[in-house]
Amino acid sequence: MPRRRRRPQPLRPTAIIKRLVREAPLTPWRPSHDPVTELVLTLLSQNTSDTNSGRAFQQLLKRYPDWDAVLDAPVDELEDAIRPGGLAPTKARRMQALLAQLRERLGPDWDASRLAEMPIAEAKSWLTELPGVGPKTAACVLLFSLGRPALPVDTHVHRVAQRLGLIGPKVAAVPAHDMLEGQLPAERYYDFHVALIRHGRRVCHKQRPSCAECVLLDRCPGADAFVTE
Ligand code: SF4
Repeated sequence: MPRRRRRPQPLRPTAIIKRLVREAPLTPWRPSHDPVTELVLTLLSQNTSDTNSGRAFQQLLKRYPDWDAVLDAPVDELEDAIRPGGLAPTKARRMQALLAQLRERLGPDWDASRLAEMPIAEAKSWLTELPGVGPKTAACVLLFSLGRPALPVDTHVHRVAQRLGLIGPKVAAVPAHDMLEGQLPAERYYDFHVALIRHGRRVCHKQRPSCAECVLLDRCPGADAFVTE
């Protein structure tokens, strides 16, 4: 009869990154889009694949010359433009609500570069006070657009961090942001985020993770649910 394996001690986040990077190097951080574009892209990426949201984003760029045009477009026309990204009626309305707030705050040049200068807590609040923007989206904008110390916790990061014992099984994604940020130096947030997303996509799947192929197996408490000795 198979025996349950002995529960291992969790690895520290920096040690997790080290193992995952040894397996395959990470793409170094490069500034992505400006903050407004990153906000729109993140909204489009909700509940769909990167391919579909990328297609919706390309169509949006093709149809509208600037954010003012997106904001002022008839909503059904905007829905049509972003349809490949799914949930078009919801996303079109959310996008216009978001852009309306941004134009009011940023003025006609849509320049959000002030986020690069604000203290990080203030920058997070500035973003999460926008409609439809939670801690994950705020962290994506700060990290990817501006290289600021914020750690986005998406579904993969959340699941893998729980299985690896970095956060408890009942900790929701929102509080996980502060809990995980507190466990590693700010300059490693990007590596941790990218390494865990990649691991979640390739190995630590939601259903039936490939624990036998996982470089973290010997130190993963969560693997107890999937493997026996
Ligand atoms: S050992 Fe299994 S559960 Fe743990 S991180 Fe690896 S794939 Fe995920």
